[in-house]
Amino acid sequence: MKDFYDVAIIGAGPAGLAAAKAASALGASVIILEREARCGGILNQCIHDGFGLMRYHRALTGPEYAARAIDELEGMRIDILTDAFVSQLVDNGDKKAIIVITRSGLLTINTASIVLATGCRERTRGQIRTPGSRPSGVFTAGLAQSFVNLKGMDIGHRVVILGSGDIGLIMARRLTLEGAKVLGVYEILSKPCGLKRNITQCLYDFGIPLETGMTVSRIIGSKRLEAVEVSQVDSDMKAIDGTARIIECDTLILSVGLIPENELASDLGVKLDPKTNGALTDAILQTSVPGVFACGNCRKVLDLADLVSRQAETAGANAARHALGLGGYEEAAELDVSLPKGWPEKDVINCTLCPRGCSIAFKDGKALGYGCKRGLEYAKTELVSPMRTLTATVLDSKGHCVPIKSSVPVPRSSLVLLRQALKSVRLADHHSGQVACTIDGIEFLSAENG
Ligand SMILES: Cc1cc2nc3c(=O)[nH]c(=O)nc-3n(C[C@H](O)[C@H](O)[C@H](O)COP(=O)(O)OP(=O)(O)OC[C@H]3O[C@@H](n4cnc5c(N)ncnc54)[C@H](O)[C@@H]3O)c2cc1C
Ligand code: SF4
Repeated sequence: MKDFYDVAIIGAGPAGLAAAKAASALGASVIILEREARCGGILNQCIHDGFGLMRYHRALTGPEYAARAIDELEGMRIDILTDAFVSQLVDNGDKKAIIVITRSGLLTINTASIVLATGCRERTRGQIRTPGSRPSGVFTAGLAQSFVNLKGMDIGHRVVILGSGDIGLIMARRLTLEGAKVLGVYEILSKPCGLKRNITQCLYDFGIPLETGMTVSRIIGSKRLEAVEVSQVDSDMKAIDGTARIIECDTLILSVGLIPENELASDLGVKLDPKTNGALTDAILQTSVPGVFACGNCRKVLDLADLVSRQAETAGANAARHALGLGGYEEAAELDVSLPKGWPEKDVINCTLCPRGCSIAFKDGKALGYGCKRGLEYAKTELVSPMRTLTATVLDSKGHCVPIKSSVPVPRSSLVLLRQALKSVRLADHHSGQVACTIDGIEFLSAENG
């Protein structure tokens, strides 16, 4: 490790990894600083598939996407320091100093350019001010996801979800497959926020109700959560008297929004968007502090990891140009892929095979709205016997959670039984992309990062 790098990247999620690759490709010396023990960012806990449709042209799990992004750095002049928490950034004009806390003590790294790729964090109960007591059993969706997917924990059995964003929807399916009863998803807005495909595949597939214009108006319980009160809301999003009903449950999952993570940026004087807390940048992704660039969820929360990686390549390349005095900055491309969100239309099938997300309907025996034959075949299968890729975790011989996925889509009706059968599996040997176990003739591949 050196004490000066042309480009220092903070965060090793998809943004940091892609930024590093692009900066190094232009000849810059690069270091990535990551506070966790491994690279991949939030992707490591997102074991469902659907990542990488644009960048890698196939449906990957989060850990598989991360593994590919890490593999792309092989052979490049990039130092990666994990277990390295960046605690402070100091602007010394042309050069910046980065103070890093590592297991072996404090480090100072000097750099010409910084790329902020610190991701985002979740909005908590305190921030939405839900009244009531403070029992255990209330989790943000991402925290619940990390407990279940990374630690294999059983977090509860009767679950209510507040908020219809994608993380909450994905957790509704995940907890159902783990054997919990998800009693309902309650959304304060008049329409759902999540992707149509997630409403279909995470809620409708399992008969989980979704009610809009509703909130959790009270949390009830002493040690552990015992119930929540849900109420309809008025146009000011206040609970309407007389509409409350009590739902007995032991777990409440909050999926109520993400906030760009920018403490470091604001310490350095980077201007933030007062509404979103995202780092403000110009067209070349440079922040208000010259030599400091931002990309990914710390700039603006993006739905797709693929878009994050693409944007980060521009930020990384421009950070290298700044450091090496190359000029010729690239402007960030418009990231205009917006997958369909909200209520799925009745009698319409949302194709999930590529990011276009075509809405396909059948009228008088004719299919309408499909963009390609593959999508047409998907819609026909969806009509008669829907198929899904099953993703889950199983334990290895050391008790670690290993993400797995079925090698082919399986009948939707078999998902719960297959998941239950997988619970007794203990993996001896496993390698990413290879068959880890077989249940009822169906092969499950290890889908881990590395
Ligand atoms: C639950 C969930 C489901 C999703 N589902 C999908 C999906 O199906 N398909 C899809 O394409 N996208 C999905 N996404 C979106 C996608 O995963 C994210 O948009 C993307 O991972 C964000 O990348 P990032 O690099 O900006 O942030 P992150 O992946 O969050 O990475 C930020 C990194 O910065 C590190 N860091 C932060 N502060 C510091 C510090 N001070 N010092 C050192 N390191 C630091 C963090 O530890 C982290 O590793 C999902 C996201 C979530 C949360
Ligand atoms: S129908 Fe074809 S183009 Fe449309 S979303 Fe499906 S795969 Fe993509």
